[in-house]
Amino acid sequence: MSRPDNKNEAPRRRRKQSRAGFLEEHPVCCYCNGRRASTERDHAPARIIFRGKHGPENFEFPSCSLCNRASALSEQVTAFYIRSLDQDSSRLDEAEFDKLIEGLVNNAPEAVPFPTFRQNRAYSEMPDRLITIPPMAYQLITLFGTKMLYALHYRVTGKPANPTQRRLVAWQQAGTQGAEDIRHNASQWFDGMIVGQRRNVDLGNQFRFQTGYNERHGYLGLHMSFGEALVFFCVLGPARHMVKLKPKPELYVSIADLGAKIKRRNP
Ligand SMILES: [Zn+2]
Repeated sequence: MSRPDNKNEAPRRRRKQSRAGFLEEHPVCCYCNGRRASTERDHAPARIIFRGKHGPENFEFPSCSLCNRASALSEQVTAFYIRSLDQDSSRLDEAEFDKLIEGLVNNAPEAVPFPTFRQNRAYSEMPDRLITIPPMAYQLITLFGTKMLYALHYRVTGKPANPTQRRLVAWQQAGTQGAEDIRHNASQWFDGMIVGQRRNVDLGNQFRFQTGYNERHGYLGLHMSFGEALVFFCVLGPARHMVKLKPKPELYVSIADLGAKIKRRNP
């Protein structure tokens, strides 16, 4: 692994690109099809997802402030559920988790999990760590996945996701049959997983992902997992083809508009 102060490294790799330089290179927001200029260097997945906020390097994307703000709650909620569901609690930072709970209770009380499975016989066979995820949290975690899909589309194709596309964003709690189904579907697209790397920080299994892009047909597949907690499989493709699928994948909507919709439904 090269060190940042290695004199033999090219200057471009020695110093992290400045914020101004980044925005100059990426002038428009990749989450609203360039409708607005980029004003932020946005981390996706957000740093709050990772222990000690140490996310992978080179996962920075141009965002406008509207898209950035519209997705902040989804990132808090997803971070909370990843910590709550992860089987490996040995590395849980209690203080960090308490902060996430406090944020959730203050900012999105409707997204707090139901403690129902203990009282409901139908759930008595489920493993202890499975929890019931309320509708608002479901929408927010789906928004999180959608944002990742748009970000990785920009990373792979150099273009923002746009209204000629439809999106499929599926996710499940790891360890369930649903998660196995997602992994099976994803394996039909890809082979081998790529682990996001960050210098000097062991990300472990916190974030694994793979993307596959079929340039001829314009389909992007994204498979990601966060610890032993959440598994995602997402596809972005041409609306004229995807419209024939059942159930019909949803049309592209910008992150700013998706976030605003969730808030309106739950004032
Ligand atoms: Zn935007």
